[in-house]
Amino acid sequence: MHITDIMRANSPTFSFEFFPPKTPEAAETLYQTIRDLESYMPHFVSVTYGAGGSTRDLTHHLVERIQHTTKLDPIPHLTCVCHNEEEIQPILLRYAKSAIGNILALGGDRPAGIAYDKSRESFQHAIDLVKFIRRFNESGAHPERRGFGIGVAGFPEGHPATPNRLVEMDYFKAKVDAGADYVVTQLFFDNRDFLDFRERCALRQIHVPIIAGIMPITSITGCKRMAELAGGTRFPATLLRALQHCQNNPEMVRRVGIQYALEQCHDLLDNDVAGIHFYTLNRSDATRIIFDSLGIPRHPNTPVSTV
Ligand SMILES: Cc1cc2nc3c(=O)[nH]c(=O)nc-3n(C[C@H](O)[C@H](O)[C@H](O)COP(=O)(O)OP(=O)(O)OC[C@H]3O[C@@H](n4cnc5c(N)ncnc54)[C@H](O)[C@@H]3O)c2cc1C
Repeated sequence: MHITDIMRANSPTFSFEFFPPKTPEAAETLYQTIRDLESYMPHFVSVTYGAGGSTRDLTHHLVERIQHTTKLDPIPHLTCVCHNEEEIQPILLRYAKSAIGNILALGGDRPAGIAYDKSRESFQHAIDLVKFIRRFNESGAHPERRGFGIGVAGFPEGHPATPNRLVEMDYFKAKVDAGADYVVTQLFFDNRDFLDFRERCALRQIHVPIIAGIMPITSITGCKRMAELAGGTRFPATLLRALQHCQNNPEMVRRVGIQYALEQCHDLLDNDVAGIHFYTLNRSDATRIIFDSLGIPRHPNTPVSTV
């Protein structure tokens, strides 16, 4: 379904993010997670996109598998890095043929371990990919009249590559105005950053829905990996203090992380957030506990998927 219709019919939205598994064991974990979470009937799920060729195919396959074998509405991520127009066009055609409704258009993380020269890229920034998808939509190649709904990333704490926050907002405004229908944010641990970002967007006349990205911490190792991946993320003292108290007790760390994320969700809902997007890391337990505590009902009659 086009994201505009999803957002119009559901406020707030709840959604999950998965990444394509690389091994048969990881695939089993993910498919079990999908089966576990499907009965919450999230408004959409999204699938990340890697920098290398084979992992990219895994994304396309996973998106199509979710589309064809579950009740879930998958949104593929698509990135600029290491792609040219001749490569993006067939991917869009393939997704259009599978009636995929939306795409999250991203700059993409720099590929690790391969020589990479950004200046030679066809798409320099996510805005170029947004414009390209927009042109694809106008070509009428998608079965839905409006074409793909288009999402973009937002960074409540700022993106590390643009330290000037005023200039960054200019780039962000241009990206949204190029044709974005919604924004999903980078994870954050202090809701004031999200609320301030939303206010700054409103001041710049950015009025598309802004969905908050939430990642519950479930281990100290995961927390450190997250700090590496989402460079620049602030870890507030309240959170660090709570984690420090129980750092040698993995179960308590998990509980503290989930409780912290739950409180973030309650506060965001009190502040009329347009949606909450959970970075699940392909596991269902933390998200299930949060959903149950938020009082989001399961739909026991949801047909068990064959994914
Ligand atoms: C919700 C979410 C999902 C993500 N999923 C993935 C994924 O699946 N795969 C993946 O590889 N990465 C993913 N990422 C990471 C993301 O691709 C990187 O953080 C990337 O560096 C920024 O992406 P962007 O789409 O904001 O890029 P852009 O909008 O291109 O911005 C990147 C940087 O360029 C700057 N910039 C923008 N326009 C200009 C301009 N005209 N001139 C100069 N500078 C400019 C911006 O200010 C910013 O600092 C995700 C991030 C988020 C928040």
